Amino acid sequence: MIIDAHVHLPEKNEQRRYEQSKAQLLTDMQQAGVDHAILIPDNVSPSSIGDLPTCLELVKDTPQLFLMGTIDIQTQGDAWIAYLDGLIAQRRIVAIKIFPGHDPIYPTDPRLAPVYAMCQARKVPMVIHTGCNTNHPEVAQYNDPKHIVQVARQYPEMKIVIAHYFFPEVDYCYATTRPYPNIFFDTSGLADAEVIAATGAERIRSVLLKTLQDDPKKIIFGTDYAMCTFQEHMALISHLSITEAVRQDIFWRNAVELFKLTVI
Ligand SMILES: [Zn+2]
Repeated sequence: MIIDAHVHLPEKNEQRRYEQSKAQLLTDMQQAGVDHAILIPDNVSPSSIGDLPTCLELVKDTPQLFLMGTIDIQTQGDAWIAYLDGLIAQRRIVAIKIFPGHDPIYPTDPRLAPVYAMCQARKVPMVIHTGCNTNHPEVAQYNDPKHIVQVARQYPEMKIVIAHYFFPEVDYCYATTRPYPNIFFDTSGLADAEVIAATGAERIRSVLLKTLQDDPKKIIFGTDYAMCTFQEHMALISHLSITEAVRQDIFWRNAVELFKLTVI
């Protein structure tokens, strides 16, 4: 079984409505052999990849798809947090994602405290976007792992998933986060040509292997589809020299445990 813990809808345009984007996602999953995926909506509205209410409608009656809640703490306050809390209680979202770097906010922003408290109390993982944006390298200051470990220390029961391994500074990210058993990583973007060009394929493989050696539960398969391909990311994991049991952990078991997914 393969579970992709990090996908977005293909962008909607004049020719493609949200329903068609969803159909494209499901077709591409089937072709690649991806059984389930966790869809991540945008945290701005409206969005070409769908906001949370749009994606909630789309994943209804679609057992292949799970959903994350998203928040922009600059514009969405208590009412939105209460909305997310209700969705968690109904198991309609399986995690919360924030986008420091896309948004000019730090993970340590005090406005995020009630969101973290909710994740910790509800036992729902917090996914954090990291890494440099090719056109705007300065945004990486917002999602530097040195801020994320402060949150990990403050909320030791909350599981944090770092997306994109703070590329290209993957070794720094590994060293900074290593002491924290509540920090995990998804592999989204790490097989993308631009990310490889900036980071180096060997550095990516070696940091993944080091992380797995510390704890094989720490790496979760994710792709950043539709910006990236399922196939390239599956090849990255398939070619790692690890045991078959650890490969299965990465491809699905870790996601099932971390996000408490019901899969058949
Ligand atoms: Zn993404």
